[in-house]
Amino acid sequence: MTTRRPRLNDGVRTDAMSWTEYVSRLRADPVVILPVGAHEQHGPHLPMGTDALFAEHMAEALAERLGGLVLPTLAYGYKSQARSGGGQTFPGTLSLDGATLIAMTRDLIRELSRHGVSKLLVLDGHYENQWFLTEGIEVAARELGPAAPSIVRLEYWDFCPQSVLDAVFEHGFPGFDLEHAALIETSMMLYLHPELVDTGAIPRDGPADFPHFDTYPQTGTGVPPSGVLAPAAGASAAKGQLIVEGTLSALHEAMAAHFGSVAAPAPATPASSGGG
Ligand code: ZN
Ligand code: MN
Repeated sequence: MTTRRPRLNDGVRTDAMSWTEYVSRLRADPVVILPVGAHEQHGPHLPMGTDALFAEHMAEALAERLGGLVLPTLAYGYKSQARSGGGQTFPGTLSLDGATLIAMTRDLIRELSRHGVSKLLVLDGHYENQWFLTEGIEVAARELGPAAPSIVRLEYWDFCPQSVLDAVFEHGFPGFDLEHAALIETSMMLYLHPELVDTGAIPRDGPADFPHFDTYPQTGTGVPPSGVLAPAAGASAAKGQLIVEGTLSALHEAMAAHFGSVAAPAPATPASSGGG
């Protein structure tokens, strides 16, 4: 019997490297990528790690193309909101306070700066994380001053080409907020991890119809019982391939251009800074 081992994508993931290999890789001034996701209900047909799995895939594929490094994924995110993720009323959705996510982001950037990392990409896969990641970056940059890395924060779906959205949505695109566990994410999962999709459980109770306001404490009003906010029925692996590969191409182009234009830092002496 053979033993199945998780694929650790040799040469990209820092958690699979020794510290000495990491230090020698940093000498080439690579883009270091922090994927951020969530543990959040994604309907009865998709896994709760969907946002984290997608952020991780985008990060690893991008790092392979850029010669970059990928940090362990932050697999928890800010609180799900009704109008973008179904909200906090679902069992399984396991979220952080904003202050926690801000602090984690700031702490990691401080450590990476100490290592001599000069190019950092925070790659977000969960809609609600955006401003807490931003605040962690802002506070770290203020504290580090000139020692702060050059940092990019992005949401990967913003790189999905319009031509792909036009091809995939025959009846019109509902918007990325309502695309929670719907056609895009279901198609992407059918392409990347089909064994994690229960196609027989794809619900038909949506789409959600929300007012232009949020109410607290969260009650789940207006959220379809399945937790899926827009139709997922037309999902396919072929559509997922179009979305994933189209997004990755655009993301690669943008990050190669951006980080290629970032000036190399003064020669670092990373080995001497390691203590304890
Ligand atoms: Zn999602
Ligand atoms: Mn999400």
